[in-house]
Amino acid sequence: MTKKILLNSLLFIVILVASALMLLPKMLDKSMNPVSEHAPFVVSKEAQALHNTLIVGDWHADSALWNRDLKKTYDYGHADIPRLQAGNVALQMFTTVTKSPSGQNYDSNETGANDNITALAIVQRWPIKTWSSLFERAMYQANKIKDLEKRDPENFMLIESQYDLGIFLLKRVNNPKMVGGLIGTEGSHALDGNLDNVERLYENSFRMMSLQHFFDNKLGGSLHGTSGAGLTEFGRQAIDEMQRLDIIIDVSHSSENVVKDVLSISNQPLVISHTGFNGYCKSPRNISDSLMIEIAEKGGLIGVGFWDAAVCDNTPRSVAEAIIYGIGLIGAEHVALGSDFDGTITPGFDTSELVAITHELLELGLGKEEIRKVMGENMLSFLQDNLPKT
Ligand SMILES: [Zn+2]
Repeated sequence: MTKKILLNSLLFIVILVASALMLLPKMLDKSMNPVSEHAPFVVSKEAQALHNTLIVGDWHADSALWNRDLKKTYDYGHADIPRLQAGNVALQMFTTVTKSPSGQNYDSNETGANDNITALAIVQRWPIKTWSSLFERAMYQANKIKDLEKRDPENFMLIESQYDLGIFLLKRVNNPKMVGGLIGTEGSHALDGNLDNVERLYENSFRMMSLQHFFDNKLGGSLHGTSGAGLTEFGRQAIDEMQRLDIIIDVSHSSENVVKDVLSISNQPLVISHTGFNGYCKSPRNISDSLMIEIAEKGGLIGVGFWDAAVCDNTPRSVAEAIIYGIGLIGAEHVALGSDFDGTITPGFDTSELVAITHELLELGLGKEEIRKVMGENMLSFLQDNLPKT
């Protein structure tokens, strides 16, 4: 009898622990990717009509990091295919996060700090090979995006080339809800220190790579690391290899010295996929305006983020003001959107509500042609110029 009670209690505990583990990924996602409570945004008819005609593009979302099925819609997190469609988003760059130091902050992070993504990979029951390899983590997240095209071809197309982009735009004539997705990295520690992995990532559909994330890595210093160092020899070789393959280089999170070094050796324009402008919002997350000008002068594009450390608030108004500041600084041809949705930030809106930015840009007096450019046409033409041809 006693033995039976003991066994039942044990079984009860096992079931309890197992269900807690099953619920944990959703709880983490929900608590780490909230949206600020807000009343529905008031949007003018003019803004809605204009927004419906835009090609909207966003350079940065970490949605593949979480266990949500992006084919379905959720009442938590920031982006999935149905919500991208509701926001009239045409082009979405999905970035893959592979390492994040415990105690992550914008000022100073040790390269050797414990990594949060290892625990997240285990809790989310990712394949065991992702527990120890950053490269495998990037591949696993990329495969989710590639798989989306197979499971949801009516609504989603993966874009890997200028040719694909042409096909996508044709498909969108008959199916204006079609979303085009691209794949990038958040930091090149995803190479696991091996240059050959640049080509392996390329072969697995990666078309943009950022160099650093929150800590200094083998390629050079992070804006939030400890060294402030520029590019290393390995970093230079990695950039040569990326540019040989027509992989777009993203200098988000890179130290100012890395940005300067990349500008001096790059033969292609750069992207900052998610950032703000220091002249609008002074923040350790943003590099200096003078470097932004240099990036723009070489044909680069700056994606304006939707969260407080980038634009000092998280409202559509603050994003619109940062965009208008950026236009004044570097010109309307060089400003774009870089949400950082699902990147453990707290935006004031999710991707289904992007019309609120169009509304605020109009309210602030920006012309319709400029709105078209910053909301997505600049991203489209950058991709038309810089993706591999086929
Ligand atoms: Zn980031």
